[in-house]
Amino acid sequence: MQVRAKKSLGQHFLTDLSIAERIACSLKPEGASPETPADVLEIGPGMGVLSQYLMEREDISLKMVEIDQESVDYLLLNFPKADGSLIQGDFLKLDLERFFRKDFCIIGNFPYNISSQIFFRILDHKDRVPQVVCMIQKEVAERIAEKPGTKVYGILSVLLQAWYDIEYLFTVGEGAFNPPPKVKSAVIRLERNGRKDLGCDENLFRTIVKTSFNQRRKTLRNSLKPLLAEKAVKENWSPAEYSMITSDPVFALRPEKLGVEDFIALARRLM
Ligand code: SAH
Repeated sequence: MQVRAKKSLGQHFLTDLSIAERIACSLKPEGASPETPADVLEIGPGMGVLSQYLMEREDISLKMVEIDQESVDYLLLNFPKADGSLIQGDFLKLDLERFFRKDFCIIGNFPYNISSQIFFRILDHKDRVPQVVCMIQKEVAERIAEKPGTKVYGILSVLLQAWYDIEYLFTVGEGAFNPPPKVKSAVIRLERNGRKDLGCDENLFRTIVKTSFNQRRKTLRNSLKPLLAEKAVKENWSPAEYSMITSDPVFALRPEKLGVEDFIALARRLM
């Protein structure tokens, strides 16, 4: 019995075992050993191609979350070991605090249709998630790992790079899957950097990044106008003050020119 691939769940099953093993080995939780195994959550195990290698590792304690009933049935039938560590549910709604009392790493061949949502959820739990290894659409992987100044650099690049060091590990062709996806894939590793806080309001930082990239052809002076106006009212800026503040050269730039530190500096200024 095989699981019938469902497009709506982003199911493209990896069939190349050497790639599966390579992905499983790319997870390197710091300080993990058979005596002190690291908690790991696999998102979307499907038919367990990755899970089988992860279950063999003695330095990790694996949990899996899979939304698809048919895949859950398949896993329980073929991997009796999975019983007790397999959660049937939606990662996006999973009560992570309930399942993990301490830090946990994340691994998976992500369902590509919700990979951005998965990353936003990881960001919400960044202080508990020291490392992520995932396969995603190559284009998204490049965007996330990209440095400022390029066309693909965007919201997730800035938000993730603020908290994680990101490494592009390798590319995977369409032929490694059944059914083959229309796009190439890539495996990346995110490792939490040492940053404890931004020194500014995190929500404001996120709003600035999102607002400016949502109108990425505009200069910050234009895209952030509503935010600036709000602050001007709150702090009673005179028109002269307004033009002095917004004459800072940073406001003449488009968002793709700003690195993480520049966005942080900007958020501090607009606090
Ligand atoms: N890891 C497997 C399957 C990858 S396909 C392999 O490499 O072959 C993506 C998997 O994620 C599918 O099994 C799909 O059912 C599952 N999935 C999709 N949306 C999910 C969600 N919201 N939460 C948990 N799993 C999900």
